[in-house]
Amino acid sequence: MLRFASLASGSDGNCLVAQSLDLIGKTTVLIDCGLSLRDTERRLARLGLAPADINAVLVTHEHGDHAGCVADFAAAHNVVVFLTQGTLRALKADGKFHDGVRTRLIRGEQKVAVGSMEVLPFTVPHDAAEPVQYVVSDGAARLGVLTDIGISTRHVEQTLSGLSALVLECNYDRDMLWSGGYPRWLKERIGGPFGHLDNRESARLLSALDRSKLKHIIGAHLSQQNNRPELARAALARAMGCEEKWIGIADQDDGFDWRTI
Ligand SMILES: [Zn+2]
Ligand SMILES: [Zn+2]
Repeated sequence: MLRFASLASGSDGNCLVAQSLDLIGKTTVLIDCGLSLRDTERRLARLGLAPADINAVLVTHEHGDHAGCVADFAAAHNVVVFLTQGTLRALKADGKFHDGVRTRLIRGEQKVAVGSMEVLPFTVPHDAAEPVQYVVSDGAARLGVLTDIGISTRHVEQTLSGLSALVLECNYDRDMLWSGGYPRWLKERIGGPFGHLDNRESARLLSALDRSKLKHIIGAHLSQQNNRPELARAALARAMGCEEKWIGIADQDDGFDWRTI
């Protein structure tokens, strides 16, 4: 059995937890840790978890809303950090990684095992050193997490086909972004091929996937300035051909509660 929840999702911080349970025991990982250490600990408690329950932190890329307290959390609780060479180098260059934190280097497209969990990092276009996103599995159910991607690629769509659950970036609404108050360079960065997905692109990506086993779809990493939950929900519901109530939306403050697949 695989279950997952979010501690927070959005440009102020992202942290997702995935847990596989089998006869041998539990494996629990965080995907990103972009909150403060105290916030992370408090929100874990809200989900009934203690830091000691976490077996590993899987990092997608070095941006602060994903890697914020990765090193502090790992150092405080002796947790191993999985990340690419490029992400590690970028974090060290910014002084955001401590010597002595246990690391395991990963590469896109190369599966690794964390306890009883199978972890597949996959490469995405985003303006970071060596960004990846993840599919995690207990051997049966597969959860995909995709945020911080400028444009979809055929490779990404193949990787995400046949999932049981998908947490999918719906960063912005195109009209809200372009008519909003962000400086032009930032609008171009967000909307460019190494930025983020808007609701329409996310819906198109979703409609390109094999969705026959998909039981949960959750819109994530919504911009608080440039998007609204109802717009993201409507776009994903249209792509799924389902009622809007079936679409989950991850919240900046509350993330979302446990879901089981
Ligand atoms: Zn981000
Ligand atoms: Zn990013």
